[in-house]
Amino acid sequence: MNKDQSLYLAAVLRKAVGDEVVLFNGRDGAWLCRLISDSKKSVTLDAVEQIAPQTPPSDLWYGFAPLKSERLDYVIQKAVEMGVGIIQPVMTQFTQLHRLKPERLSANAIEAAEQCEVLSVPQIAPETSLEALLDTWPGVHGDRILLFADEAEASASPVAALERLADRRIGLLIGPEGGFSDAERAKLRASPFVVPISLGPRILRADTAAVAGLAVIQSIIGDWR
Ligand code: SAH
Repeated sequence: MNKDQSLYLAAVLRKAVGDEVVLFNGRDGAWLCRLISDSKKSVTLDAVEQIAPQTPPSDLWYGFAPLKSERLDYVIQKAVEMGVGIIQPVMTQFTQLHRLKPERLSANAIEAAEQCEVLSVPQIAPETSLEALLDTWPGVHGDRILLFADEAEASASPVAALERLADRRIGLLIGPEGGFSDAERAKLRASPFVVPISLGPRILRADTAAVAGLAVIQSIIGDWR
């Protein structure tokens, strides 16, 4: 347990010797632990028993154009809660945010995992451009299908498109507040591994679209079944 975590347990949560907490490290499942010493600098715990086995990491890939400040925090946290395994920031033509703080993304992912007892914290990939993502997709992702949430797609339910992909490895790409440019849309639609999907008749804000897109994927071909 590092200094910050010790401080959090002892000073913020005011845990004292004898108190029990549940800890996880992303490899060994969730463990019930008991405090056996609690000096402000460092806390020592006894691992009492495993209360949940380690869950395998999710293979669901989620690419998004970074949004500004707390909306960015929000989409990271929601991606974790929705069961994403890889979080990929994608810089597009209309992306508003150009300087990502990876430690902030990671802190949000860990916080969401702790709150929602997600035992495998998603991997956060280094930012990339849409161009580079598409050019390297087959080499990096093999046969994974990239679901392109296209706000310009004629309104339709994504159910049929998703049901046809039931046994495929999946990625979801959500654009920025300003949407995708025509050139980006053309490049995406020309890619054989891309399947455009509509998320209904209304234009959703990017953070709403992320949750809506992940919900339909998980409910139709994901781990909500
Ligand atoms: N261009 C629009 C909004 C883009 S919304 C504008 O500026 O108002 C941000 C992203 O959410 C889009 O790029 C798309 O990935 C997704 N999205 C929003 N509504 C959608 C819909 N009805 N169907 C598919 N994707 C949608």
